[in-house]
Amino acid sequence: MSKATVAHQPTVFLDRDGTLNREVGFVTAPERIELLPGTAEALQRLVDHGHRLVVVTNQSGIARGLYDERTLAAIHARMHHELGELVSAWLHCPHLPDGAHGYGHDCACRKPGAGLLHQARELLGLDFAGGALIGDSARDVLMANGLPLRTVLVHSGKPADGERAKLHAAGFRPDHEAADLPAAVDWLLAAR
Ligand SMILES: [Mg+2]
Ligand SMILES: [Zn+2]
Repeated sequence: MSKATVAHQPTVFLDRDGTLNREVGFVTAPERIELLPGTAEALQRLVDHGHRLVVVTNQSGIARGLYDERTLAAIHARMHHELGELVSAWLHCPHLPDGAHGYGHDCACRKPGAGLLHQARELLGLDFAGGALIGDSARDVLMANGLPLRTVLVHSGKPADGERAKLHAAGFRPDHEAADLPAAVDWLLAAR
């Protein structure tokens, strides 16, 4: 057995809609995914710098009956291929928001809950040290609350003013704001 130690690999958690692909409401079929410019290249840069990538996404359209798990798997399979198969895990919450009644309305995995981050930790045996989280919504940033993850709010999805106001109301500030994923990656790699 080799005694060589494996270098610690920090993880970057990525929101999906409005961060990797254009925000168009519920994505009900693979053809409706439109990757934002520079997404594949930005992910490649993160991997080249030793990061692991995990996508964490709320997909309550499943609980709402707009699409099913099989369709979501097909959407993610297509994205995975188009993004160069760089993402280690695609994790989603299929449940309804708090306050709704029905399937999993009080689940632990819907963002801003941190359940998907902990799923990733158990699934991949990772830790959060040196990691980061990038998303276009307040609830993305908020899921990192209390965890050692740097947070970047990107402006490529939901209007930033509204998301910033939600964060302010929650008493939380992202570590950085960036126009889009490529700009967020510029900052992450420069600020290490
Ligand atoms: Mg989003
Ligand atoms: Zn859930």
